[in-house]
Amino acid sequence: MPKMPLSPLHTLHSLQVVRAEGSISRAHLAEKTGHSPFLISKICDKLLAAGFVSEAGQGDSTGGRRPTLLSLKPGLGRLLGIHLGTVNVRIAMTDFRGELIEYAKAESHCNLGPEVAMQHLIDLVDQMLKKTGVSYSELDGIGIGASGVVERNTGTTLFWPKLPLWINVPVRKIFEERYKTVVEVEDTSRTQAFAEYRLGGVDSAKHFVYVAVGAGIGAALFFNGQLYSGGAGFAGEFGHMSISETGPLCSCGNRGCLETIVSAAALIRKARHGISGGLSNALMKMSLGNSANLSVEMLAQAARDGDRFSLRLLAETGTQLGRGLVGLINLLNPELIVIGGGVASAIGELILPEIERTVRERAMIQGGDKQVRIQISKLQERDWAVGATLLVVERALAKSFTEKTEPKKRAAS
Ligand SMILES: [Zn+2]
Repeated sequence: MPKMPLSPLHTLHSLQVVRAEGSISRAHLAEKTGHSPFLISKICDKLLAAGFVSEAGQGDSTGGRRPTLLSLKPGLGRLLGIHLGTVNVRIAMTDFRGELIEYAKAESHCNLGPEVAMQHLIDLVDQMLKKTGVSYSELDGIGIGASGVVERNTGTTLFWPKLPLWINVPVRKIFEERYKTVVEVEDTSRTQAFAEYRLGGVDSAKHFVYVAVGAGIGAALFFNGQLYSGGAGFAGEFGHMSISETGPLCSCGNRGCLETIVSAAALIRKARHGISGGLSNALMKMSLGNSANLSVEMLAQAARDGDRFSLRLLAETGTQLGRGLVGLINLLNPELIVIGGGVASAIGELILPEIERTVRERAMIQGGDKQVRIQISKLQERDWAVGATLLVVERALAKSFTEKTEPKKRAAS
């Protein structure tokens, strides 16, 4: 590797800016970093020579010649993003640019307890590394979104409301010890929200709430473009907002939490009641007479086919979720709410009109273009796993840069 006589910190900082921007001209990079064009030119030469960036086409002209754009070199780095849900796990391997290299989905086995599930997850990761020919030492970082309540500083799942065996599971430590790489663990609603920021439809919204509706319900809150974590780090437990004191008992011990009314499990439970009460022939047929086969996707299909029971159930679901959102909107005044997660993928567009109607009728904040926008996420499951890589990409890139550009100095100091 060539020697790097420039300040490594300045060079690394410029590299991080290139990564965050995607592609950027030298002039724009000088502006962003506050360095002189001369210094930036030297830094870019070094980064090009060291193989961290490459020239990536030309930007728009601001009068003169069209500037050459720089971006992170394609294919550089190996990151794993893991979306560990209550039922399924999704694993993505990407480069430092977030380009997908490999993807896998499997049952998470979280219901069998942390020991079984962690070993299963390690087996899945090892399989992917083997398949892609990536050794442990080539792995630059692992970002993990877990659906339990996560203490971010230690990467421990403190508890998992639906899974009583998951108390104080040191997920980060387990992965650090095995793979000897950079590991971060966060709540899945937040890693999904990062994916939405990076790949989805957030645009320029600074005050943004992401609501994940899947096996459970969580939220990630962004104020001024910054994630708000709360005092103990787990702000956003939106699913445990009680909206009906006489509602069903929730796994958290309270009654009538939003999660007991709108989540996948709640919808399936209600659909089963419908079938056993003889209210929906369509669902009965689709599930082949066995309500254990029922899925949220079937419910969506039955509603699209005009099944009255399913239509009514989805309308109610939209109203209830809308009521929960009204609380958020009145409290936080967000510009944008994106509803994502597995349930949203299946039924989101079907319940959106009812959600919007409820919000229009009940929220305090009104008025023209200032009104909150509510969108259903267009991201796919694999994007959630890619979102988890964003937890570690900056640290992993810094580590890779330091190792490749000044290995001797480090060891000597
Ligand atoms: Zn609850």
